[in-house]
Amino acid sequence: MSAALINLSYLMASALFIFGLKGLSHPRTAVRGNLLGALGMLLAVAVTLLNRRIVSFEVILAGILCGSAVGAVFAVKVPMTAMPQMVALFNGFGGGASVLVAGASLLETISVGTPPSPRFLVAVAATGIVGAVTFWGSLVAFGKLQGLVTENAVVFRGQQAANAAIGLACVVLGGWLVAVPDDPVRYLALAGVASVLGVLLVIPIGGADMPVVIALLNSYSGLAGTATGFVLDNNVLIIAGSLVGASGIILTKIMCKAMNRSLGNVLFGIGGTVGTAPAASGADIYEGKVKSASPEEVAMVFDAARRAVIVPGYGLAVSQAQHAVRDLSNLLESRGCEVEFAIHPVAGRMPGHMNVLLAEANIPYDKLKEMDEANSGFPQTDVALVIGANDVVNPVARTDPDSPIAGMPILDVDKARTVVVIKRSLSPGFAGIPNPLFAADNTLMLFGDGKKAILELIAALKEF
Ligand code: NDP
Repeated sequence: MSAALINLSYLMASALFIFGLKGLSHPRTAVRGNLLGALGMLLAVAVTLLNRRIVSFEVILAGILCGSAVGAVFAVKVPMTAMPQMVALFNGFGGGASVLVAGASLLETISVGTPPSPRFLVAVAATGIVGAVTFWGSLVAFGKLQGLVTENAVVFRGQQAANAAIGLACVVLGGWLVAVPDDPVRYLALAGVASVLGVLLVIPIGGADMPVVIALLNSYSGLAGTATGFVLDNNVLIIAGSLVGASGIILTKIMCKAMNRSLGNVLFGIGGTVGTAPAASGADIYEGKVKSASPEEVAMVFDAARRAVIVPGYGLAVSQAQHAVRDLSNLLESRGCEVEFAIHPVAGRMPGHMNVLLAEANIPYDKLKEMDEANSGFPQTDVALVIGANDVVNPVARTDPDSPIAGMPILDVDKARTVVVIKRSLSPGFAGIPNPLFAADNTLMLFGDGKKAILELIAALKEF
């Protein structure tokens, strides 16, 4: 294939990635966006296979088979609720692959005996640093979310100074590699020191900030890909990596905003840390104040309602209640009640978690309201039905500056006339703190599994 044709194909693939990303920015066009992105990737891979010096197609085929088998097992076995740690792990694999590819290219160049260009060496060093930080940082994030290592922030005296010193050591080792490139051991040392940095950068981050860190590691994996693109002199890898890097940073910013944190605050505790004070005990807050209701009693409340807002959270995903919720929404509308869904940006366990579940149940997009719009409607709402959400509706975010979720914008469900909360118990959510909403005067608790409770509520409503 001629170089011009290859670059034209890469340009087309890049355009498909960009149109794919644009499509993914809205639920209505997301499926088409996904297909366009996949088509771009197919084109990029096919052209690369035709273009490059392929050593052996057998090895590539064996790699595709092994990778597909592992991917298929993950796709079938991993539950929706474990998605964040899977995303963390896959980001890490991207970083790890970049480290290996750059190392192999360096070895190959040294063994051929031609002096490598400074541009190539800088790209190798950058890949080694960013890729290793991404790989080890992602493994720690995976371990925290999977419960293999403590979810709490691990901090020690002089941590930031130690991180700065290790970061500086990476830069010095990188400079040494560029200046004296004949010994691949220097690359190993560079990747080793960057690995320590990756671990140290993520251990001080507590569980509640993990969504932000995962988005950031996603961005790093893109940057590692870009650096690898410079190592291999591959334009489409440079562009695709930059797109991942940029979209990861945009997502990180959105997540920070949703949790009212700055990136510096999440990563280094700059501007004060939140969540250091011990949470009030649940017993103090709930004792004698929680009102438990039956599905029939809740149905009575809905019977009189003219406007209801459904607030889904992580428990909706766990109980797979999305189809039952759609049926409830349809039933309420057939009885003359206006129904909307209020979506918090970090509800669930991954960005867009609730949108994906509700789209799966064919709930019309125009019924899904973002936080600001939803909040303006709660004071005029007869019933706010909270299904398996906890932190994202916890009023302490507004009232307690020492809370781990202090300042996080929340859905103001407590401003509705009546609040019905469906969950199995009074257990806390992801942030591990009690929720005074459950003890509020206008709240009724419908205890039970999300899907089962909704089905019982539908059955009870049909009796009216
Ligand atoms: P929470 O984690 O605050 O609460 C979920 C609630 O669901 C729990 O209190 C639990 O109570 C209930 N629940 C669990 N299983 C069921 C079930 N089968 N049926 C009914 N209820 C159930 O969830 P939110 O969505 O409110 O908030 C998300 C939290 O996750 C935030 O703190 C956010 O920062 C964090 N996070 C978000 C990510 C994202 O990208 N969206 C990624 C990682 C973390 P009970 O056990 O009593 O039933």
